[in-house]
Amino acid sequence: MKYCPLCRSELKDRTIDGRTRLGCSSAECRFVHWDNPIPVVASLVRMPDGYVLARNASWPVGLFSFLTGFIDRGETPESAAVRETQEELGVRAHSAQLIGHFPLTQLNQLVIAYEVRADGELKLADEIAEVKVVSSTELAAFDFGPLRLTSEIVSWWTKLGGVEGQADSAAIRALLQTYEAAINRRDVEAAVATYLPDADVWVVGYDRIVGIDAIRQNEQRVASSPGFEGWATSVDAIRFVGADVAVVESTGTVTIGGGRIAERLTWVVNRTAAGWRIAAVRIMSFQRVGS
Ligand SMILES: [Zn+2]
Repeated sequence: MKYCPLCRSELKDRTIDGRTRLGCSSAECRFVHWDNPIPVVASLVRMPDGYVLARNASWPVGLFSFLTGFIDRGETPESAAVRETQEELGVRAHSAQLIGHFPLTQLNQLVIAYEVRADGELKLADEIAEVKVVSSTELAAFDFGPLRLTSEIVSWWTKLGGVEGQADSAAIRALLQTYEAAINRRDVEAAVATYLPDADVWVVGYDRIVGIDAIRQNEQRVASSPGFEGWATSVDAIRFVGADVAVVESTGTVTIGGGRIAERLTWVVNRTAAGWRIAAVRIMSFQRVGS
C-alpha cells in the first residue's frame, strides 16, 4: 500500500501509541493502515478410519496440510470449519473441537485450528488435488515440509492429548468402557475393580454430550439416568478456559443392584455445534461405598 485509499495522499510511517504504523501523510486525513491479521480457519479432519490431509491443487506434489478457509460474514469460526470440511471433502462433518489459535506472521493471518469429526464418503472439490488418510501415529510423524505451522499445530494437539494413539489413553478409554459395561450389567464389584489407583492419565475423545448448562442452572445436579436405580453427579467446580472449554470436577454416586459406587472424575468439556461434549475424562477414583 502506497497511497491513502481515502484521499490519495502518500502513506508515510507515523508513530501511534509508540508503534510505527503506515498512515496518511495529509494532516486533514486521519487514515491509518492498521494491517491487522485476518482470521483463517484450519480443519484437521478426523474420519472413523483416520485423519485426512489434503493437497491443494495449486501445491507441489508431496505437500499436504489441513483444510483452510475464510469465515463468512456472520459465521462462527466453528461453523466455518464444519462448512469447509463438507464443501472440500464432500463428507458429513458433525463437530468441531478447538485446537487453538496460531499467528501465521508471513501471511498476516490468525489461524484458528479445529479438529473436525466427520464421516461419509470422500468426494473432493476441484481445489483439492488429492488426500491422504493417516493414522494418529502417522499424523504425529508426518513431514509437512515447509508448512511449519501445520507441524506446530499437530505437536500442540498431540501434547494436549487430542491426537489419539498414546497407549495410555487407549488403555484408559478401554477401562472406562469396561466400567460402563459393568455398570450396565449392574455388577458393582467389576465396576469398582476397573479403577487404576495410580492412573494419572486422561481419556480423550470420549464423545458424550453433556448438559453443562443444565448442570449450572439446576444446582449443579444431573438427573438420574434410566436403567440405574440411581445416578447422581454433583459438580464441585467448573473452571472455564475461554468461553468454549471448561474443566469440570465432579463427584457422583451410582446405585445399582449390588451396592453403591462413589466416583470422582475430572472432565474437560468443550462447546460444539451439538452442545457441550466431553472431550476428556480423568478418573480420580471409583470406590464402593456400601450396599
Ligand atoms: Zn488520506
